[in-house]
Amino acid sequence: MDFDATASELSAILLRTERVDGDMMRRAPRLRIVARHGVGLDTVDLDTARELGIAVTNTPTANARSVAEHTFALLLAVRRGIGLAIRDRGHGGEDARAAIQGRELFGSTLGLIGFGRIAEQVAAIGRLGFGMRVLAHDPLLADEAISRRGAEPTCLPELLASADAVSVHVPLTSDTRDLLGLDELMSMRPGAVVINTARGGIVDEDALSTALRRGHLGGAGLDVTTVEPLPWDHPLRAEPSVVITPHIGAQTSEAMRRMAMEAAQRIIEHLRA
Ligand code: NAD
Repeated sequence: MDFDATASELSAILLRTERVDGDMMRRAPRLRIVARHGVGLDTVDLDTARELGIAVTNTPTANARSVAEHTFALLLAVRRGIGLAIRDRGHGGEDARAAIQGRELFGSTLGLIGFGRIAEQVAAIGRLGFGMRVLAHDPLLADEAISRRGAEPTCLPELLASADAVSVHVPLTSDTRDLLGLDELMSMRPGAVVINTARGGIVDEDALSTALRRGHLGGAGLDVTTVEPLPWDHPLRAEPSVVITPHIGAQTSEAMRRMAMEAAQRIIEHLRA
């Protein structure tokens, strides 16, 4: 879109990943709303929007199912050695077949850190689809709410000590940065796996490398990393039990359609109000 050619006419902007800065807002005197796909609003200058009375909206629920399903894509890939199996295809496949002894999810314990929109769906898939016991730690939710939404409320140390798989579903904040450091990772059950589809930086990647190298953990599945894409020479790339995807948790046709429809709906509602 040629922004300058249309700026004076714009009432609304619908965004995916592009940026809208304060200067663009000032050049669009009729602008009333910026509606963004997805959860984060970090690509929009919120201070200027507030100053100019421009509404800014997002679509926080639209991609939860996709991310929840991706959590299981990673969990299954790690527990069944899929990453190693695929890598080995080029070498005839026989070595991987002999080396890989996967683990079922059935009957295992899943520990969820953060129990919001995505984690609630992960819990349902784990419980109903795979027969897993599901624990959840979320200090901002009452125990009763966690139980009602399908998990056993559990403090973090107990969750780490009990779960066969720990999956992170919290926002990245100053409280959650490096939430899983070396002490926490080493307090997990031997052979347990870590899944992060939330944000890079919540799991300390150096500590994760160390815990894997020491043979304490069984593997990790990461859709998000502190630096994206994770550099090719990063030690986690060399770990056979680590599966890394390039932040594709929400990249499904269904989520894209839901996000577009919800963002458009927000615009229609706002302009009609
Ligand atoms: P949400 O806001 O619905 O849930 C987050 C939960 O974390 C809340 O219930 C909150 O109480 C809890 N929480 C906050 N601080 C906590 C702490 N210190 N310890 C434990 N719990 C804490 O968010 P959501 O929509 O479920 O998203 C979860 C994460 O997934 C976010 O980081 C989001 O950015 C990420 N995400 C990733 C993708 C992807 O493509 N991989 C897509 C969408 C969202």
